Amino acid sequence: MGIYSIWVLEYGYTSSFPKGVTLHGAFNETARFSYAYVLIKGPGVVAMVDVGFDNVAYGKELNDRFGVENWRSPRQVLGNCGIRPEDVTHVFVTHAHFDHLGAADHFPNATFYIQETELTKWVWAMSLDRKFRWLTAAVDPGDIIRAINLARQGRLVCIDGACEDVLPGIDLYPAYDTHTAGSQYVLIRNDSGRASADSWVLAGDLIYCFENLAGTDASDPAYVPIGLAMGSQTNLLLIADEMVKKVGGEAKRVIPVHEARLKDAFPSRLTEDGLHITEVTLGAGQTSCVG
Ligand SMILES: [Zn+2]
Repeated sequence: MGIYSIWVLEYGYTSSFPKGVTLHGAFNETARFSYAYVLIKGPGVVAMVDVGFDNVAYGKELNDRFGVENWRSPRQVLGNCGIRPEDVTHVFVTHAHFDHLGAADHFPNATFYIQETELTKWVWAMSLDRKFRWLTAAVDPGDIIRAINLARQGRLVCIDGACEDVLPGIDLYPAYDTHTAGSQYVLIRNDSGRASADSWVLAGDLIYCFENLAGTDASDPAYVPIGLAMGSQTNLLLIADEMVKKVGGEAKRVIPVHEARLKDAFPSRLTEDGLHITEVTLGAGQTSCVG
């Protein structure tokens, strides 16, 4: 057993989402699309990868625009694992889209870690002529203001590049010019070894579904990029390869949080709220959330 438990917690979903967004080329298909974040728990550590959005104000507008169903607050969702938002001390922000950063205000005791480029490029994108609004379609400008307020409170860490052992055995790696300008992914080396034999990648939106790493032909695997990239599709493929190599070539260890079938790949359960909890791994001495 490793040091950390990793749970992917659904906080809403879209029943019928265009697959072309998650897999380039799948233009005529739809699939369930999960909205989720990641809870990481270890000895003395309660951390998250992303925090979801708040279903108020412009967050509510985006909820409706993207057709999100059954949204639940962080208090409700984390409560199913016996955690309160106040318990969370570290949040690793993969990117600043509304569904990843919007609920930051729910976590009064957390310090947030983001690539500096991610913030500054959103400010730049927001400053462009209205005709460029496609770039900011999934951004709540209020979230960028909230991030700046976190900085004022001393609760924002702007990272420039890779950051190893941000917590013991947990590293952050940049994925510049991919899904967004300053996306990052989280590597958990769960035995804390430098060349870990038990590592996991929390991939943010660098992959959306299993096919991004496997392709659609099992006999001839291929990397296929997501359909929604501000940056370079080539960079997305190179990052896909980098993430797979970081987990020793085992694609199953690269976790796509929006993938609704994730619950079938690991132990999971459906909560009373109709949302899935997926237990990616259970740390030593810890209690299962799905048992
Ligand atoms: Zn997302």
